[in-house]
Amino acid sequence: MQLDGILVTERVNYRYLTGFTGSRGYLLVLKGEACLFTDFRYTQQAGEQVPGLEIREIGNRWVEEIHEYLGEKKVEELGLEKDYLSYQLFDLLRDKWADIKLRPEEKLTAALRSLKDPEEVSVIQESVDLADRAFTYILGELKPGVRERDIALKLEFFLREAGASERSFDFIVASGKRGAMPHGVASEKALEEGDLVTLDFGGVFQGYCSDITRTLSLGKAGDREREIYRLVKEGQERGLAAVRPGVTGEEADKVVRDFFVEAGYGKCFGHGLGHGVGLEVHEAPRLAPTAVDRLEAGMIVTVEPGIYIPDFGGVRIEDMVLVTGDGCRVLTGSSKEFMEL
Ligand code: ZN
Ligand code: ZN
Repeated sequence: MQLDGILVTERVNYRYLTGFTGSRGYLLVLKGEACLFTDFRYTQQAGEQVPGLEIREIGNRWVEEIHEYLGEKKVEELGLEKDYLSYQLFDLLRDKWADIKLRPEEKLTAALRSLKDPEEVSVIQESVDLADRAFTYILGELKPGVRERDIALKLEFFLREAGASERSFDFIVASGKRGAMPHGVASEKALEEGDLVTLDFGGVFQGYCSDITRTLSLGKAGDREREIYRLVKEGQERGLAAVRPGVTGEEADKVVRDFFVEAGYGKCFGHGLGHGVGLEVHEAPRLAPTAVDRLEAGMIVTVEPGIYIPDFGGVRIEDMVLVTGDGCRVLTGSSKEFMEL
């Protein structure tokens, strides 16, 4: 049976579909028409951001109010966002809208959102440029004795001062042995001479995220540190060469994974090669084992292999790239040469 409409309740998804940025909205999409329900705080903003779309103000009785509207439109079967909707809200709607067949559907907007139009590409490029500038700036702040959390704070302050509305995720600043944790969120640890330091950060610019990782050495690096860096850099370059339309996320991932296995570090790369980036810092498509979807021109993904060694440390290098007609274009501009500060 076909759906009569879908109700979009997730903020990034109704933002993507309409441009409305308020924190509360219910976008009802029917055949040939749509209506955005929001409350008193946002009706003026919604009218300005989405001229031409029907806007209805809802109050405390919003569940009943939308239900009445669905009745007027004779909606019998309604799709919901299975991967975003809370069980609590689903339970409530099932109870109050008992005469409507609710159909939780997966990935209602994921495929649309994974393909970026030229306007989105240019906003994302600006977001990436901000992250590049932040990286250049932070190089001057990395010194023995400075705590990881201070580096994270300085990065965030720089990004926000430069135009980002917020950070795109909890920044990773992992130095020395902490570098062995792929998601080593900035801690109280102070940087020390000889540490490898992994910085993974990004900002949100006009709604769109950036995500960059660089690893460098504080002071002179040892032979093992150099060797691991060389392998990750080559792995990352092989990953970039593998990203093109028609390749599955799994195939791109395997190119780098096989290279690390051959070099004897197969067990040290425990996460996927990359992920889509857009309104959310992690979105479709995935580049990882079991990711069967094929890459298409217009997608923006990260390529971020790493090698992590317990009790030693780790190296990760992450760029954002745009899949083009015959390969990919790297959006990230920061140097990947090994740095010894
Ligand atoms: Zn990252
Ligand atoms: Zn990432």
